[in-house]
Amino acid sequence: MEISTLREEARDLLDETVALRRTLHQWPELGNDLPVTRENVLSALEGLPLDITLHQTTSGIAALLDGGKPGPTVLLRGDMDALPLHEDTGLDFTSKIDTAMHACGHDTHTAMLVGAAKLLSARRLDLPGRVLFMFQPGEEGFGGAEFMLDEGLLNVPARADGSESPITGAYALHISANLPSGWIASKGGAAMASADTMHITITGRGGHASQPHAALDPIPVACEVVQALQTMVTRTIDVFDPSVVTVGRITAGTTNNIIPETAFIEGTIRAVSERTRSKVRDGIRRVAEGVASAHGAEVDVRFEDGYPVTVNNPGSAQFSLDVAREVIGAQSVVEMPNPVMGAEDFSYVLNRIPGSMMFLGGTPLDRDLSKAAPNHSNRVYFDETAMVDGMAVYAAMAVRHLAGAPT
Ligand SMILES: [Zn+2]
Ligand SMILES: [Zn+2]
Repeated sequence: MEISTLREEARDLLDETVALRRTLHQWPELGNDLPVTRENVLSALEGLPLDITLHQTTSGIAALLDGGKPGPTVLLRGDMDALPLHEDTGLDFTSKIDTAMHACGHDTHTAMLVGAAKLLSARRLDLPGRVLFMFQPGEEGFGGAEFMLDEGLLNVPARADGSESPITGAYALHISANLPSGWIASKGGAAMASADTMHITITGRGGHASQPHAALDPIPVACEVVQALQTMVTRTIDVFDPSVVTVGRITAGTTNNIIPETAFIEGTIRAVSERTRSKVRDGIRRVAEGVASAHGAEVDVRFEDGYPVTVNNPGSAQFSLDVAREVIGAQSVVEMPNPVMGAEDFSYVLNRIPGSMMFLGGTPLDRDLSKAAPNHSNRVYFDETAMVDGMAVYAAMAVRHLAGAPT
């Protein structure tokens, strides 16, 4: 099937896609319960020949498009949730919620996936198979994809004519302020990191700040732990199988003249292999316990499992780059040399279905990339015309995959 016209067709959809994106942007919602967003997506999908399943445990939407010919099912994912921060972009469609913002661009993903549903619906009769549009909530740390998987997202029924149509590929796009508008980037193997959380509590003995010898001050111990963790990472972890440990929060004490009893350290742990992921955890525990013990303090180290490493099937990743080159031109498609240290719960889908996570550039071409506010910033800005390329690539991935993707 011809895909060279998809970009033109997507351009025709830009106005309505921008309108939807701006509505979503003005009413951001957090976590797995996104009632307003869900309503907006459902009304945007109205009239399309989709079999829609509303998920019960979350606001997830699974929309199935049945092609005119038998074949497998391909999954396209768009996430819908926002982040808990105040928006400072000054845009005229700025968030109307004081404490929430679409700072990761999921509003664009949702709008693009709706656009792709329109493009593919228009070609429905020629499609040899089906497309499952996965509108997921709770990507930002709430495990929305896992909830949808647990609710049977992948257990698609047979087609109406009785033919089996299992899901054989899964693709997702993520807009990024680190790439020029409309560019596509991906890579085979680890594409994004795992993200676990560490919680370290150091317990000493409280007392008067003028008499530290009569107390056991946990604050300098906590400071040493923070430093020693960085040394542990750089001295024990292979730079070619890297890890990032960042202490994002450290709290202790109430005022200047009291030695508190406890100090708390919280941080994130990123890795791009399961091997390093567990090695770093062991190192954190060893360092925290060793430093605390050197000073006679007690320590409690806890880890919370976050998202696993996002691993692109190598064949699927090459395939997605090839399709992107065909749709938007080779000059705007890059094979990433390294993974991104952010994490994604599309990883859970890719652990079950071979596929690929791709990045879509969102920074306007006339802006300096190195100065662009990044994703998650209160000032991040995405060029809406990049959604033309995103919609076209989403749709082309489905068309080409159903035509027979290499695996
Ligand atoms: Zn994010
Ligand atoms: Zn995101």
